[in-house]
Amino acid sequence: MSQITDTYLIPEQYKSEVDLVRKTAREFAQRYFTKELAHKIDKEEAFPWDLYKKAGELGLIGSTIPTEYGGAGFSTEIVSAVITEELIRADTTLGQCILSGAFGLGVLYLFGTEEQKKQYIPPVVRGEKTFFLALTEPEHGSDITELSTVAKKDGDYFILKGIKTFITNAPTAEYGIVLAQTEPEKKYRGQTLFLIHTDWPGVEIKPLKGKMGQRGSPIGEIRLDNVKVPKENIVGGEKEYNMGFYRALQYLNIGRTHVGAVALGMMLNAFDKAFEYAQKRIQFGKPIIEHQLIQQKLAEMIQLIDLSRLAVYRAHLILDDYIKGLVEPRTMAAISSITKTFVTESATKVIDHAIQILGGGGYMEEFEVERAWRDHRVTRIYEGTTEINLLTIVDAVRRGYFKL
Ligand SMILES: Cc1cc2nc3c(=O)[nH]c(=O)nc-3n(C[C@H](O)[C@H](O)[C@H](O)COP(=O)(O)OP(=O)(O)OC[C@H]3O[C@@H](n4cnc5c(N)ncnc54)[C@H](O)[C@@H]3O)c2cc1C
Repeated sequence: MSQITDTYLIPEQYKSEVDLVRKTAREFAQRYFTKELAHKIDKEEAFPWDLYKKAGELGLIGSTIPTEYGGAGFSTEIVSAVITEELIRADTTLGQCILSGAFGLGVLYLFGTEEQKKQYIPPVVRGEKTFFLALTEPEHGSDITELSTVAKKDGDYFILKGIKTFITNAPTAEYGIVLAQTEPEKKYRGQTLFLIHTDWPGVEIKPLKGKMGQRGSPIGEIRLDNVKVPKENIVGGEKEYNMGFYRALQYLNIGRTHVGAVALGMMLNAFDKAFEYAQKRIQFGKPIIEHQLIQQKLAEMIQLIDLSRLAVYRAHLILDDYIKGLVEPRTMAAISSITKTFVTESATKVIDHAIQILGGGGYMEEFEVERAWRDHRVTRIYEGTTEINLLTIVDAVRRGYFKL
């Protein structure tokens, strides 16, 4: 029995699945991740398609999506947390690329029609295609209650016009989801999600280069210039008209929980390097791990990782019920925001300590904690900034959706 599975209160019925995927993900990383590939991807800002396809073949993408849609059909979201943790622990850049390739696909899985799911999900979980979820606009980031992107009804079509920005996978994806204002006067009550293809007339993708980190995961701007979208492409069909804002937020409860697993993997990556270095590096006649101020940093890192892991697994376990509709969305919002803010802010402390323990080497790309720092930083920004998530937590407690 694995020590990790025992320590983190994983329910008995999931232990064998969790142990299996941990082993599979670890072996995958050992076999295919190299320092050279990671540096190349980071330098060139190139998406590692080969790696992504291999991960898809092994069931590491969409691990909890049912087999009828091409997924691996595992029975708990803890499995997806463990895959994320292991791949990113092995390499923050390569692991993150694999995990972000299918970003937003959960919206389709949760709210799409049967035909949409059967057509669009399998190629993504097989690692053949990437996906996007476009919410953010140049004028609307944290506040998407009123969007500039509009979709006007025209017979059996909607005509989409607007700009989405910072969209993960926009430069590589053939299709994805866009949130648009269908009835502007209704604000967030008048928004709808549409499935669009990037090769449709009027769609223009502009890659955005020069990110601080996560540089193998491409982002881009999506310009929509009177794009004709069939009404069948409303995510979930016509009954979902004007439900887009609510669906996006319901999905973000899952996305934000997943970001917790990403940040957990990143702090483990930095800790592993710092712990090894501290035992080897000799100063003042002994390994620096013998100096108590270094031990204090390591102790804080261990505490934060340990409690972050508990938070991440707990939140993923609750996601299982949430996905089945058994948890109130605003209760899940509180749990996912608590997890995201605690783990991502802890990652900053842990990786900063790792850099300090490595001394001058910590500042150099060769020692790689520098890359973990760059890769982790955006976890406090995307899928809701720390500030926005903190507001969500207090709101849920004030309204009685989350009680201590
Ligand atoms: C690498 C990357 C990938 C991304 N991928 C996607 C994607 O795939 N799809 C997508 O739709 N978006 C994506 N985003 C966009 C991301 O979600 C937004 O950048 C984020 O939500 C913040 O929006 P903003 O950048 O407009 O900042 P703003 O909303 O302008 O915020 C600026 C600052 O003000 C603070 N602030 C705002 N409102 C308040 C308030 N009420 N109280 C206190 N502080 C406040 C914020 O916390 C922040 O510190 C991505 C961004 C990055 C960097």
